[in-house]
Order: sequence, then C-alpha cells, then structure tokens
Amino acid sequence: MDVFDRIGADGHEQVVFCQDRGSGLRAIVAVHSTRLGPALGGTRFYPYTSEDAGLEDVLRLARAMTYKAAAAGLDLGGGKAVIFGDPAKDKSEPLLRAYARYVDALGGRYITAEDVGTTQADMDLVRRETRFVTGVSRELGGSGDPSAATADGVLWAMKAVALRLWGDTSLVGRHVALAGVGKVGSALLAHLVEERARVTVADVTPAAVERAVSQTGAQAVGVEKIHAVDCDIYSPCALGGSLNADTIPDLRCAAVVGSANNQLADESVASLLADAEVLYAPDFVANAGGLINIAQELAPGGYRPEPARAAVRRIFETVSTLLDAADQAGISTAEVANRLAEQRIAAVSAGQQKRSVG
Ligand code: NAD
Repeated sequence: MDVFDRIGADGHEQVVFCQDRGSGLRAIVAVHSTRLGPALGGTRFYPYTSEDAGLEDVLRLARAMTYKAAAAGLDLGGGKAVIFGDPAKDKSEPLLRAYARYVDALGGRYITAEDVGTTQADMDLVRRETRFVTGVSRELGGSGDPSAATADGVLWAMKAVALRLWGDTSLVGRHVALAGVGKVGSALLAHLVEERARVTVADVTPAAVERAVSQTGAQAVGVEKIHAVDCDIYSPCALGGSLNADTIPDLRCAAVVGSANNQLADESVASLLADAEVLYAPDFVANAGGLINIAQELAPGGYRPEPARAAVRRIFETVSTLLDAADQAGISTAEVANRLAEQRIAAVSAGQQKRSVG
C-alpha cells in the first residue's frame, strides 16, 4: 500500500514528515481531523523499529484523539506526533526546538502536548518556539502534567460502572487489578486507596511495583497474570492491545476500566467482551480526563483548576449515558462510543456548513 492509501484509509487530513539533520530530528505529525477544531494530541518519543511502525502508530493515535475529543464534547479535532528515537539517549534541546518549529509552521492546525517519552519540561522547551502547545508548567500559564487529571477521570468512569453493576458509586472493598503503575496508574492507585478499594498491581518496571507496594500495601502479581486476577475491575494502565482473543478468555472481572489507549486489539474484541459478560468502559471515554483538563488551557481567560476538575468529573455522566445507550441499542459500549463521537462530528460539521452557506 502506498502512503496516500494509508493516510486516506482512515480519512487523515494531513501528515507531515519532519527532519532536521543538525539535531537528528525525525518526526511525523498526523492531523486526522480538524472538523471540530484544532487537532490536539501528544508527542510520543519512541524507538520505533521501523518507519512503518512509527507511521502506523501516529495514524492510529491521531484518529483515536478525534474520537476522544468528540466524545468528550470538546471543540477539538484529533492529531498526534511521533519522534523517532530513544528519549533517554536522543532527546536534546535542539531536537525538541527543531520539532517545535514544525509544529509552529502548522499555524495552529495541530496543538501538541506531552505523551509517552515526553514530559512537561519538554513542553516548556517546545513553548519557546511555538504557542501551539499545551501541558506546559503552571508558571508558563499551563496545566502541567495531565496524568493526575487522567487518573481522576478513570476513577469517575469506575464509579459510573460501579453504579451500573452494583447500584452504588462506592468502591469500598472492591478489588481492582491495576496493570501499569506509571504516571496515571500510580495516581489512580492513590485514589483507589483513598476509596478503600483493594488493589493488585503489576508493572514491567520492578521499581514501580516496589514503590506501589511499599507506599500503599497493594498486592503484586507478575505482568503476565494481572489480567487474569479474580477481581471486580481490571484496569489496564500500561500499553494498548491488552484485550485480545488470547487474554479475554482469562478475564475474571466484572468490568474493564483503564487509562491505556487502544485497549482493544481490534474492533472484533468488543463483542468477545460482551459475550464474556464483561462491562467495558471504552478507553477513549474513560481516559479523556487529561485531554479535558488540557483543553481548558485554550478557554477564554486561560486555565483555571476548578472548572477543569468539574469538566473531568463529567466523565461520570458520559459513561453513564453511554452504558444506557448500549443497553437500549443492544450493541457494545465500544460501538456506542464510536457512534457518539461520529454523530457529534457529523452534527457540528453540518451546522458549520449551514452557517457558511447562510
Ligand atoms: P507511563 O509510561 O508513566 O506508565 C506506564 C507504566 O506501564 C510504566 O510504569 C511501565 O513500566 C508499565 N508497563 C509497560 N508495559 C507494561 C506491561 N506489559 N505490563 C505492565 N506494565 C507495563 O505512562 P502513563 O502516562 O501512565 O500512561 C499509561 C497509559 O495511559 C498509556 O497507554 C497512555 O497512552 C495512556 N494515557 C495516558 C494519559 C496521561 O495523561 N498520561 C492520558 C490518556 C491516556
């Protein structure tokens, strides 16, 4: 398949290949959709094994951002960027600033943020070259690291699921199996401990497991076992693809609610989950807290923590509405979430067309 076929298959509007010899920058920016507003999405810094792998990833992630923003009711489109390389070895100020100038050249069609392999400090550097960046530090007028807001949103998604399954939003005594105790997972763990839930954790990084266990008294299991823990909620907060034809038969939970992007290995997996009677809170709805929080930086008057927090907590209502709609339509929650996003994009776009005609 040639590049135009690949870009066209999911309707991406624009894909920009960026390179800067001096700093060694090699990056791709994908703008999937600007129909609801500027395409916002993070910059992933990752040692992809091939250019194809990086391109696939950025296309998939940019499209997911379109759905995430639309389902969250934001006036934002979807985009994402990937920088090729090992952040521990290859990241430098000249490289990030060269990258930032490419973002700037897009004139606001794409707004960046941090993602796997990039940090708030990196975004502060990016800010020196472009205003089209969010998640910068508070001193620069930003909202900082979005992970806490993402964890907050996942907690509210869990509460919506708890209300549906057990008639109460309380998580007291509920057992959560948490895969990945990084930035989001560890913040979520703190919430769950506060809620007096019981938590079992797993992580490929031994230090992360040790920290979680020593700080909270959580139990730990191996990463290959975490999805199969007999629990109330399985919470994937590591990498995508953990729900697939191999893992779903092992699940011993009533629900899946986590922060990882692209939890379903493919679309067909949603029906396997439904057959296994596992209630799935669609990833891009449950993990939208960080995006909702960051979007507040673009609000008139700039970022204010209280309205941002309130906006993140509305994930509770979004998930509740979605669960009702899935019940009524007799389709999977994943499909309902996709429809919700697509309907909003279509409705807003139709309004925009009418406005430009009339
Ligand atoms: P992170 O890199 O801080 O944490 C990920 C953790 O998962 C790390 O501790 C890592 O060691 C661990 N891990 C990696 N592979 C694993 C495996 N196979 N099994 C168990 N643990 C594994 O990243 P993060 O910011 O906490 O994000 C976690 C997930 O949530 C990612 O999928 C990310 O795309 C998604 N997400 C994050 C945000 C955010 O605000 N940070 C927002 C939306 C979605």
